[in-house]
Amino acid sequence: MIVDGHNDLVARRWRGDEVRHVDLDAAGEADFAGGFFALFVPSPRPGEPLPGPSYALPLPEPIPTEEAARIAEELYDVFRALPVELATGPEDFRPGRVAAILHLEGAEPLAPDLSTLEPWYERGLRSLGLVWSRANAFAEGVPFRFPSSPDTGPGLTAAGRELVRACNGLGILVDLSHLNEAGFWDVARLSSAPLVATHSSAHALCPSTRNLTDAQLDAVGASGGVVGINFAVSFLREDGRPDEATPLEQIVRHVEYVAGRIGIDHVAFGSDFDGAAVPQELGGIAGLPKLVAALRAAGFGDEAVAKVTHRNWLRVLGDTWRPRG
Ligand code: ZN
Repeated sequence: MIVDGHNDLVARRWRGDEVRHVDLDAAGEADFAGGFFALFVPSPRPGEPLPGPSYALPLPEPIPTEEAARIAEELYDVFRALPVELATGPEDFRPGRVAAILHLEGAEPLAPDLSTLEPWYERGLRSLGLVWSRANAFAEGVPFRFPSSPDTGPGLTAAGRELVRACNGLGILVDLSHLNEAGFWDVARLSSAPLVATHSSAHALCPSTRNLTDAQLDAVGASGGVVGINFAVSFLREDGRPDEATPLEQIVRHVEYVAGRIGIDHVAFGSDFDGAAVPQELGGIAGLPKLVAALRAAGFGDEAVAKVTHRNWLRVLGDTWRPRG
């Protein structure tokens, strides 16, 4: 069974773009049981392939709360129309069906006074990233840069710190992917839940702002959290080039690196399917068995494969979704 940390199927359907990776009809055969389905309010010019081999894109403009909230309603309608079950507990993930965690990628749609957080929780929201790669009322995301440290700007605002506390209180997972390094450490200090990066890879292998440094990986491991390895070729390759001919073994290299650094209990998948260019030979959900075979070929045994493919995600979801004081 495979549980995944991130896909952008909803944004793709909302824009009316062709679905490239999340073919739900292939889920059964591929043993794909679902995972995090993002509600992402796009910036005006999103989705362009990242240039290479070196680049430093500016941060996109902030999106006003009212506009983001309006678009999030439309995204939510798309989400609810998907042929999937809403996941609010780890037990919702079972072989033979697809369960979807309602994830907000960037908290722009939330009122900065947090008055709309509980209504979203009641609708099923169980995960949110404070930011996408832009600034908002809560924090600042990393601009897309390569090569670059993720230390690119200021940390959480007062509203951002309140949002982390409120998420801990309700049992909403706080996602660290897209956050800059100062924001990451603010969450690490504040949060009482395991640290989670749903779709980021290892900076030591690919020095993109979107990846986690060794120190960040260590903090995730020490907290009992998990890193979902991002399959985007721009975040996998040492040269950062957006080359879809990248072998899927490059995903295995990141899994091995993170497992070697912080342990097999702290690494999982965070595909970024339908949000990024991934290795062509993987293709999408239908290709996931090839990735599992590549893990086995690299020496991962049954238990290690079970942890990476689903057990680590299910453990961390169970730990995180318990409300905390
Ligand atoms: Zn993302």
